Amino acid sequence: MNASLESWLREQLETLKRQNLYKVPKILDSAAGGRVLIGGRDVVNLSSNNYLGLANHPKVRQAAAEAIERWGVGAGAVRWIGGTMQVHAELEERLAKFKSVEAVLVFTSGFTANSGCIPAVVTEDDVIISDELNHASIIDGVRLGSAKYKKSDGFVYAHKNLEELEAILKRTQSFKRRMIITDGVFSMDGDIAPLPGIVQLAERHDAFVMVDDAHASGVLGRNGAGSTSHFNLYGRVDIQLGTLSKAFGVVGGYIAGSASLKDWLINRGRPYLFSTAHPPMVAAALIAALDVMETDPEPMRRLWDNTRWWKAALTEAGFDTMGSETPITPVYVGDEGAAQEMERRLWDEGVFALAIVYPTVARGKARIRTMPSAAHTPEDLAFALEAFKKVRDQMALPAGR
Ligand SMILES: *Cc1c(COP(=O)(O)O)cnc(C)c1O
Repeated sequence: MNASLESWLREQLETLKRQNLYKVPKILDSAAGGRVLIGGRDVVNLSSNNYLGLANHPKVRQAAAEAIERWGVGAGAVRWIGGTMQVHAELEERLAKFKSVEAVLVFTSGFTANSGCIPAVVTEDDVIISDELNHASIIDGVRLGSAKYKKSDGFVYAHKNLEELEAILKRTQSFKRRMIITDGVFSMDGDIAPLPGIVQLAERHDAFVMVDDAHASGVLGRNGAGSTSHFNLYGRVDIQLGTLSKAFGVVGGYIAGSASLKDWLINRGRPYLFSTAHPPMVAAALIAALDVMETDPEPMRRLWDNTRWWKAALTEAGFDTMGSETPITPVYVGDEGAAQEMERRLWDEGVFALAIVYPTVARGKARIRTMPSAAHTPEDLAFALEAFKKVRDQMALPAGR
């Protein structure tokens, strides 16, 4: 091991620890669910994006097991060289129908869908206009492209601020093309992007729109078809990204849009071109997950019943949920050290909920991020609420911001 690399790494890690920004993953000893086993303890799990409980659904498990028998465990190659099996193609056809778009292209994750799509659809003559709270994978995708995008150059608008967005559109008319990009549901705050207003502005100013629906997939819209469906904007959002890793319960990401967009990404989407296809069991499990979403309204109903109950109960108890409108429910703390202390105390009470700190959110805006799901029982959530109240009282945290 090179000595200067090793000493640099250790110094960096010490700095993170001093700043209360150091992360240690907890290891689960059971399938994802409303309760999980960690270190021999059975705890309420508020840290999973398994919104609909599909990660351990019997039909989805069975489809994956059967696919192993039929197709083996690996695709063997990248998609275009020989890694596309019938199940991969069928999944894309099913997703295109589900999304009411011409075509869908699946990537191995939502992260790689962003880094594959964004740089592929812009050139150095273009500009990308972003919401300031966009997800890290959008930001990385934007950086990989050759379009202008920087905040310091005035191409980032304040969170959900349509006036600022319009002002940017007015002063960027000399660019060849303009792309507006936003989360559909913001991943750390749980609020919903003002998509109807964004689409109207884009139409008025001849820009195009990409929405990252990672946290809207399976959560908002018809059968969970996302924010475009939620706002009835069919045909008016140029590029939609969805994840297959959260509510769908497995792993993957996709781009939904026109047939030519799909064709272009098959030819120019670098993670598609240079990274191996999903194992066929992943595609088969995802088809089964989609079957459940399209035929069984129960998981989505439970998700939203639990979400409404959890938000109302936290608010009633005096917690600040930061304007969240979706299952993602942040509980505001502010100070990074206090948030991490709260995480530790919640853990001692049997609740697994993580402190989210810089750089995932801004400094001084630390929070405990909670995610109710269809996999929780009312008893799980009532138990978690009592733990939150007890820990808050122990720590004498101020109520609200
Ligand atoms: C989680 C997330 C992603 C990444 O999706 P994966 O499928 O987990 O790679 C992309 N965008 C947003 C907004 C997310 O929250």
